[in-house]
Amino acid sequence: MDTDVLIVGAGPTGLMLANQLGRRGIRAIIVDRHSGPAQQSRAMAVQARTLEIYSKLGIAERALELGRRGNGGNMWANGKLTARIPIGEIGKDMSPFPYILMLGQDDNERIMGGHLRNWGMAVQWNTELVAFRQEAGQVTATLKQPDGTTRTLTAAYVAGCDGGKSAVREISGITFPGAPYEHVFFVADTEATGPMVPEELNVYLWREGFHLLFPMRGKDRWRVIGILPKPLRERDDLTWEDVIPAVRREAGAELSFKSCDWFSTYRIHHRCAERFRDRRAFLLGDAAHVHSPAGGQGMNTGLQDAHNLAWKLALVVKGRADAALLDSYETERMPVAQRLLRTTDRAFMLLVSDSWFAGLFRTQIVARFVARAMTIQRVRQLAFRTISQIGIRYRSSPLSQTLAGVPEGAPRAGDRFPWLKLKLRANGPVEDLFQKLDDTRYNLIVLGQPAPSGNAPGLGDLLSTHVIPDDVHNAQELARVRISGPAFYLLRPDGHVGLCGTRLETDAVARYLSASSIRTQGTRDKVEGTLGPGAVAT
Ligand SMILES: Cc1cc2nc3c(=O)[nH]c(=O)nc-3n(C[C@H](O)[C@H](O)[C@H](O)COP(=O)(O)OP(=O)(O)OC[C@H]3O[C@@H](n4cnc5c(N)ncnc54)[C@H](O)[C@@H]3O)c2cc1C
Repeated sequence: MDTDVLIVGAGPTGLMLANQLGRRGIRAIIVDRHSGPAQQSRAMAVQARTLEIYSKLGIAERALELGRRGNGGNMWANGKLTARIPIGEIGKDMSPFPYILMLGQDDNERIMGGHLRNWGMAVQWNTELVAFRQEAGQVTATLKQPDGTTRTLTAAYVAGCDGGKSAVREISGITFPGAPYEHVFFVADTEATGPMVPEELNVYLWREGFHLLFPMRGKDRWRVIGILPKPLRERDDLTWEDVIPAVRREAGAELSFKSCDWFSTYRIHHRCAERFRDRRAFLLGDAAHVHSPAGGQGMNTGLQDAHNLAWKLALVVKGRADAALLDSYETERMPVAQRLLRTTDRAFMLLVSDSWFAGLFRTQIVARFVARAMTIQRVRQLAFRTISQIGIRYRSSPLSQTLAGVPEGAPRAGDRFPWLKLKLRANGPVEDLFQKLDDTRYNLIVLGQPAPSGNAPGLGDLLSTHVIPDDVHNAQELARVRISGPAFYLLRPDGHVGLCGTRLETDAVARYLSASSIRTQGTRDKVEGTLGPGAVAT
């Protein structure tokens, strides 16, 4: 076999998957049909959950250096500022990154692409997947090389991170139901001055649609996105100068544009693949789902698809889990994509509907409703949880098991374990728990009871145990997220709770791991006896 995983596509999704596999010691080859990284910025918003993942990967600092922190969102209607969502203030206890980082997709790709060097990997550009077939135990792919010739490559798995027109999806015969929106989006990277709240996201709602201004790196640099007014939609020769009057009409005459580095228009689709997997082939990112960019979720969702699949693929390739573990990728990520499609679709229709009533609703009711809703603490928290993607959870997944006795309101299996600042040693300093979690292993958090003896759950080097000492500070911090001792949380490598309960019973952990297709010491000995160590069992 030439490699363990062939990653098709070096957009953000493929680069995240390559990094996550590389740092887990999995052999992966990443190819892209383009000649090099994309020059256009495209997606701009990096959400808190993505930054948490970047932090574990060791690239959050670089992203923060290059990006601009958006601490708030401001809503404008009829030329007036009608509501402010104080993102930073709401999220300060919920994530180490309580903001939306404004950082272009091109910068994200450059950071992740450069980071591949740490694992001895690099993108093979000008290399296109033209065909593949699945055989017992492997995939044989045909790649068109830079000189026009083809070569074949064998891999245990193929990951389709190849965008909306995915070849992996088409060759696998997976349909992509959905439709294009009739509206046309525009995007412009500009130098502008005006009434916008600096350093924050500004959303302008108008009778005929909306536009958003994102702060970018550099003085007076703003990304403007929106939908084209109806009379401009059919024009092929459109320039940014043609769009400016519509934007200024709504945002006020004080808004002025000095220059524009990039202007583009594009039609978008809302589609979700009927399956995210065909045996040894997986679909991730835009290859699996495309939707309106209005909520700044698209790129982030692809990155998190890759984060979800990577640890599972790594365990299976290393022979530490049965291939059945991979079924949970689609089970967990498809509902996330479907929900995102439903919500962005609804929000988008509200934002873009051409009807007179929708225009009135947008400028009169939405703006006031948001202003009123933001005064309610629970609504503010829900808004942050949703936009930042820290609220994504897999409670119905077969990998999620909440045992009896877990108090109402406490984190449950499937949830991203909350961000806590705890004393991790008796009389020690308060530390960031996320920094201590090892995302290449399972993490067992034990509260209000002693550590399990020896290597009780049978995970060996796959487990990192954290016994949280009893302490007044810890009790207060845990009470904030409704955790009371005794309790235990077994976190999966991606930080989601796999199993939780009150008294830690190692039998329950062993049963959970076996039901999750993880090979504990006992089962591993048996399987390796028949397959040989590290063999891929399917
Ligand atoms: C103009 C524009 C503006 C956008 N603005 C936003 C925004 O504001 N917010 C937002 O969230 N999203 C936005 N998006 C969408 C966002 O860019 C995508 O969600 C994101 O790029 C998805 O990443 P991906 O890695 O899954 O796919 P892609 O970025 O599409 O990457 C796929 C890669 O696969 C490669 N490839 C394709 N087929 C093959 C093959 N057969 N063999 C080898 N390589 C192949 C391609 O060359 C490409 O590099 C925008 C998109 C566009 C076009």
